[in-house]
Amino acid sequence: MRPQSTYRGRFAPSPSGYLHFGSLITALASFLDAKKNNGTWLVRLEDIDPPREKKGASAHILKTLAAFGLHWDENILYQSKQTDYYQHIIEQLFKEQYCYYCQCTRAQIKAIGGIYQGHCRHLNLDKNHSAIRVINQIQIDQYSDLIQGKIQCDKALAREDFIIRRKDGLFAYQLAVVADDIYQNISHVIRGCDLLEPTTRQLSFYQLLSDKAFRHVLWSAQDESHVSKHLQAPVFGHIPLAITEQGYKLSKQNKAPAIDIQKPQPALFAALQFLGQQPPIDLKHLNVDEIIQWAIAHWQLESVPKKQEIQLT
Ligand SMILES: [Zn+2]
Repeated sequence: MRPQSTYRGRFAPSPSGYLHFGSLITALASFLDAKKNNGTWLVRLEDIDPPREKKGASAHILKTLAAFGLHWDENILYQSKQTDYYQHIIEQLFKEQYCYYCQCTRAQIKAIGGIYQGHCRHLNLDKNHSAIRVINQIQIDQYSDLIQGKIQCDKALAREDFIIRRKDGLFAYQLAVVADDIYQNISHVIRGCDLLEPTTRQLSFYQLLSDKAFRHVLWSAQDESHVSKHLQAPVFGHIPLAITEQGYKLSKQNKAPAIDIQKPQPALFAALQFLGQQPPIDLKHLNVDEIIQWAIAHWQLESVPKKQEIQLT
């Protein structure tokens, strides 16, 4: 065990529903990788999209994690409490002329092939009824993934000026996730393969924010206890997605069933199998904490399969 590991990982669910088997796999993988590396594991609730939220889901998610022995190390971060911080970043982006208002509709962008071409960049549009796009100068289109190896993203997509605040005034995922990974000084992100491509945007955005013009905004917001004076993007590892027999991704949108928190052992065992950890059959009969202890001791990121596997339900 390495004392004082600088490893900081996190699990960041959105409270749009209860945890299902797919989200359990993600939570478990990020937890085990953090613990195996003697790191800190955090939970962040991405509750900045109220229309999509399910009442009581945040509390239920936390209850589920605890029932599965996935205990977090610091206070829960609620993105709904971070809005001043996000707003300060946007103000600074405007000050440095790194973003602009855009009034293009989804239909207009679709009509030109689906990739935004910077139409509103020099129009100086009014802020009313406008989204905010970042001027994407960095355009990172590849990176090395801990599980999937070298990832090459579509170049046109990587060049696109992406939205950081939506037309309806809500902060976009890309902004909030990068801002909070900086805020929580995250070093490792283990999450699902559905975010494989957006990672290049996040890496570009990281690099943009590493400009010294943003330091006062980022550093003053950070919790002093784990402040880091040089901005470094986390490393990423993307685990395969659990899909149904019919080939659909398990997701809240597809109404994937919530996992049973009264009897966590079978799902925990199945999740370890899915992650290629080959748990011995006797493990099924142990209690949750004993299973977790075994899983930490035997965790091997290299054993996680690259490809999607079918979850038989
Ligand atoms: Zn536009």
